Amino acid sequence: MKEQILNSLKCLKELNDNPFTLQKVAFWLYEYNDLYKEVKNYSEILCEQCQQWKANGLPYDCLQEVDYCTKRYRYFTNFYEEVEYGIKVQELDTVCKVALEEYNTCSNNNDALLKDWLIKYFDIGYNKLAIFYYDHLDYSVNDEEVVHPHFGNSPIGEFGVCIDRKYYENLIEFDDVFKMLLYERKIYPEKLKEIEEEMQKVAIPMIPIPKID
Ligand SMILES: [Zn+2]
Repeated sequence: MKEQILNSLKCLKELNDNPFTLQKVAFWLYEYNDLYKEVKNYSEILCEQCQQWKANGLPYDCLQEVDYCTKRYRYFTNFYEEVEYGIKVQELDTVCKVALEEYNTCSNNNDALLKDWLIKYFDIGYNKLAIFYYDHLDYSVNDEEVVHPHFGNSPIGEFGVCIDRKYYENLIEFDDVFKMLLYERKIYPEKLKEIEEEMQKVAIPMIPIPKID
């Protein structure tokens, strides 16, 4: 299994054009989906040590991915899932394009129309894209550098997965408009109040993922 994992990561590295094309990443996910499932299934059978902990009512999780534990290849399934998110979230680019076209037909000072728009696309803007910008795009680099969304660092071979920004242009623009209307212009104040109240209950620290080119 370890050998297959190493090969799959090597294969991905070879596909890198820095940034990756969407097609190559999708191809890699498809090629290694069976391996992903195999590793995932394997990691769900508890090792003896984990079983013992479980029997004693303790949190069971062998730390440091020790070599007897079935969870030791999690670095691969975690990485696979991060990359897969990059492809799944990109599928929203099409609906974001439609949303932007609708937004552009709204008069900029018609707050009622803008509010309807926010309500209509709230699930995408607030739930589905919640972490996109901070986790995958914002590296606080200088403004002139073109930043490509980043979806994880390979656990082996020192490379990160950045997918070309061109596939995400509508999504990124939509995210900007959505946040501007919601947070800056406060077009939907009752929802904003609700969000702020929620935020006070759960303070989640935001830690950006370090990026490797
Ligand atoms: Zn274990």
